[in-house]
Amino acid sequence: MAENQYDLMIVGTGPAGLTAAIYGQRLGMNVVVLGDTPGGNLYMIEKLMNYPGFIEGIPGAQFGASVFAQAQKEGAFFPMIRLNQLTHNGDQFMGIDLNSQEYFAPVTLVACGVIPRTLEVPNVDKKGIFLCSLCDGPLFRNKDATLAVIGGGNMASQEALSLSKIAKKVIQIYRGHKLKTEAVLRKSVEKTDNIEVLLDTQVVSFSGEECIDGIVVSTKKEKERKIPVDGVFMAVGWGPNLDMLQISVETTSEGYIKTNEKLMTSFSGLFAAGDIRDTDLRQVVTACADGARAATYAFEFLESKR
Ligand SMILES: Cc1cc2nc3c(=O)[nH]c(=O)nc-3n(C[C@H](O)[C@H](O)[C@H](O)COP(=O)(O)OP(=O)(O)OC[C@H]3O[C@@H](n4cnc5c(N)ncnc54)[C@H](O)[C@@H]3O)c2cc1C
Repeated sequence: MAENQYDLMIVGTGPAGLTAAIYGQRLGMNVVVLGDTPGGNLYMIEKLMNYPGFIEGIPGAQFGASVFAQAQKEGAFFPMIRLNQLTHNGDQFMGIDLNSQEYFAPVTLVACGVIPRTLEVPNVDKKGIFLCSLCDGPLFRNKDATLAVIGGGNMASQEALSLSKIAKKVIQIYRGHKLKTEAVLRKSVEKTDNIEVLLDTQVVSFSGEECIDGIVVSTKKEKERKIPVDGVFMAVGWGPNLDMLQISVETTSEGYIKTNEKLMTSFSGLFAAGDIRDTDLRQVVTACADGARAATYAFEFLESKR
């Protein structure tokens, strides 16, 4: 076998990529997985809920480490580096990592998840604006801080709940009429004394010199007012990032990769799984299921070419 030649190349070490690696190896393929974050977004989940078998949930990082260890035990190779470019030549996909190392495989799975969106308002790039409460929330421990969470979905409410244990007060700001949160989460937010929810409220800008010290908001009733805060956690949604993909594939207007019922993209031999895919539910359980199915169909594809 040529150097760095694999049967299956997987881009992304989240639940989709890791599950695909486990299935791929067990099907007899020689698998390489590119990525530098074992467990992907799992490390951002304080308590992973909705995953069957864990009645009280499980810390996302613990679950991620365990799935990563399982994929390693099955024999998948993890260079622990991100892919910089994915191209196709002849009958091979070629991946080039950030150190310019090349990897080759006749079948490839893109499972590189989604990245956080941000707001396009003045001062959004100032210090004091964060994307992950689990990663940066502890900065505010024992500081009597007032923190804001921007967004009205499940993730925003989870962030507000998690920050409510650290901050004196959390203000969740959402432009919509009603939180778009699961009923259980919404009730938890409502029951938490130190979370205030501001609905129908638009963020106009962030204020402060080097570091933000407040959020300027507007509503239909009041034009603009400043809410003083010590930090802001942005949770306004996620979107795909396909910068490394130098192969043209069909996507939705939002950039999610379209696949057929066997999870193959519009480019033969290129599969997609997990949050990056045009799918109706983005959760760990669906990412794992996608990974299992994609590896199975990748193997079927590989066999058909032999
Ligand atoms: C705060 C938060 C809380 C959540 N809570 C829950 C929950 O309780 N229950 C639940 O079921 N789901 C939850 N989710 C959703 C869940 O995390 C995702 O649905 C799941 O992680 C998707 O898995 P994935 O493998 O598709 O992508 P990801 O987990 O995003 O993994 C993809 C990985 O690919 C990497 N990558 C990107 N580009 C490249 C590249 N060029 N080269 C190599 N690697 C690359 C990324 O860095 C990332 O590590 C939560 C998400 C967040 C953010």
